[in-house]
Amino acid sequence: MIRLWVPDDLAAGAALEPSREQAHYLVNVMRLAPGADLALFNGRDGEWRGTLTEVSKRGCRLAVGARLRPQQAAPDLDLIVALVKRTRLETIVEKAAELGARRVRLAITERTNADHAKVARLQAIAIEAAEQTGRLDVPQVMEPQKLPALLADLGEDRRLLFCDEAGEALPAQTALAGAGGEAWAILIGPEGGFSPAERQAIRALPAATPVSLGPRILRADTAAISAMTLWQSALGDWRV
Ligand code: SAH
Repeated sequence: MIRLWVPDDLAAGAALEPSREQAHYLVNVMRLAPGADLALFNGRDGEWRGTLTEVSKRGCRLAVGARLRPQQAAPDLDLIVALVKRTRLETIVEKAAELGARRVRLAITERTNADHAKVARLQAIAIEAAEQTGRLDVPQVMEPQKLPALLADLGEDRRLLFCDEAGEALPAQTALAGAGGEAWAILIGPEGGFSPAERQAIRALPAATPVSLGPRILRADTAAISAMTLWQSALGDWRV
């Protein structure tokens, strides 16, 4: 069944008017006709059955029926990724949605070549990936921040899995094996890696655990996917 993220509150009997893009997708791309059912979610109220009730030149209308699934909180995992090249960053955001990250924080570091990102486009990619992957929430893609401010903003009770390809570090799975399931953030650097000063400052953080993702240097997207996979299997919702 097609899944659609909507910003509206969801309750039985509500009537919704999707955006023009969404109406185009439902009617012209997926060729739904009045009476067709789909699943609606907004990240707050769980997943609800929606029925296409009206199609017009202006758009379409949906009626909300029964609740299909109650809202569940995703594991509290932030992915912090340095601003890498656009297509690779788009891949990382899509994989973060599939792998259950709750937020994607974009970091400006000493070696990032960009200091801005098309956050609206990245958020749309996150929504589309959340629809496809069956999530009940959508990862929030946040505006880029300089790394020191971003790390200061994390909150002292969030553990930091610092993926450090250069320094002495425990294998990530070893560091995660004995850890608790509280709030975590995974930190991935840019194509040029972290500077020595950055590495020193990150390692000095009490909440930081430097880890290795193996003997090979991974591209930022590979590293992000690998680290999120290890975290989900050790501490997240991949455990039975
Ligand atoms: N400085 C590297 C490139 C950085 S790779 C080079 O020498 O070419 C981009 C990011 O992926 C790194 O900053 C790190 O966060 C992560 N990463 C890549 N390979 C890793 C590994 N083997 N262990 C830990 N982190 C790794």
